[in-house]
Amino acid sequence: MADHNTLLDAERISSVYRRTMSTGKAVLAEFMGGQVEVESSGAWITTSSGEKIFNAGGYGVFITGARHPAVVAEVARQLNTHPVGTRIFLEPVAARASELLMSVVPAGLERVHFASSGTEATEAAIKLARLGGRHQLVSMTGGYHGKTMGALSLTARDVFQRPFRPLLPDVTHVPYGDVPALTAVLERAPGEAAVIVEPVQGEGGVLIPPSGYLSAVRAVCSEYGALMIVDEVQTGLGRLGHWWGADAEGVRPDILLSGKALGGAVVPVSAAITTNEVFSVLDRDPVLHTSTFSAAPITMAAVCGAITAIRDDDLVARAAELGGLLTERFRLITAERLPHHHTAVRGAGLLIGIEFADPSLAADLFIALVSNQVVANLSLNSDYVVRLTPPAVMTESDVDFLVERFELAVRLVADRNPEYEVHTDA
Ligand code: PLP
Repeated sequence: MADHNTLLDAERISSVYRRTMSTGKAVLAEFMGGQVEVESSGAWITTSSGEKIFNAGGYGVFITGARHPAVVAEVARQLNTHPVGTRIFLEPVAARASELLMSVVPAGLERVHFASSGTEATEAAIKLARLGGRHQLVSMTGGYHGKTMGALSLTARDVFQRPFRPLLPDVTHVPYGDVPALTAVLERAPGEAAVIVEPVQGEGGVLIPPSGYLSAVRAVCSEYGALMIVDEVQTGLGRLGHWWGADAEGVRPDILLSGKALGGAVVPVSAAITTNEVFSVLDRDPVLHTSTFSAAPITMAAVCGAITAIRDDDLVARAAELGGLLTERFRLITAERLPHHHTAVRGAGLLIGIEFADPSLAADLFIALVSNQVVANLSLNSDYVVRLTPPAVMTESDVDFLVERFELAVRLVADRNPEYEVHTDA
């Protein structure tokens, strides 16, 4: 077996990836400089060569930063006592995590099914909808809800769906932000539909709907007896500067989906949180929808740590404050350095998108950020948008570093693309 030092060798790791895992991932990682990440703390990642890289990516997982002390303490204690349960007996940390979660979700949500990934939370929601007689599923174009077969049926992007069709039947996609289009679908199937919607479309390219959209969706769902599922796998737990995007409009969904940050960036865990009424169909048969690691004590400890960290460190308010500041700075920098490149900077809390008129410019900024020690993300459902999701635990000097490096990266993009003109058909 290879020893630790051999495993730290980047070339060897890459060849193992190619041989045993994803060739595409190895190629992409090599293209991005072939770094090997071995450690993390707060907003920072350390590579095997000792370089520090700022983490403004991670697909929205790191609202508490890496290894937040409150999360690590909970998880370490559980690791050393009882990490995985029998599932036959009751277990205290699951009860504590559920109670803590209920204390921060919109009033009226009272029950929870825990899972591991965001896509499994979506699957649970689809099954709850069907158990409640809602067989017509409605999702929004540009929406992202995961890639298992049920969730993929709702993730309205042809490039991900096409190779796997046929998917679930009776799924309709309507334009995001378009309440009349949604109404037209729901009035054809009163009492039979479930609607899934994100408060802000993260993978869709940080698309922020018009103010009042979510409450209008709530109203139309109530009017036509449709179940409202709000997918906050990416937007929840403070990311938008509110505990939940739904809170910003005083909306109580029938099902709220959480994931990503729910495990405190230490353990994968997700949840479908519902009203009593929606969940009661599962009470009849507790083994109808189960999963071996659902509510495993180690994952529940992470949930306790994550919620405690967000609450006690005031990370929701911090996300709102830092998000506002960063969005404004990024807007000024792009306007000054890329005045002819048709960029748009959008932000809700610490979910920030930089949109370009051309995917090659978005890719260019993404690469320029990495070469300036900042990890960001592109968007799975939009090739035009670079996404930044830095943690709410950033210090002042972290913020300064991020702004300074963002400016350097934008300058690089400007230097490489000085003659850029938007070509339109007009
Ligand atoms: N829902 C939303 C809104 C997401 O952003 C994601 C992932 O990006 C998912 C669901 C799927 O989560 P996972 O990748 O953990 O399955």
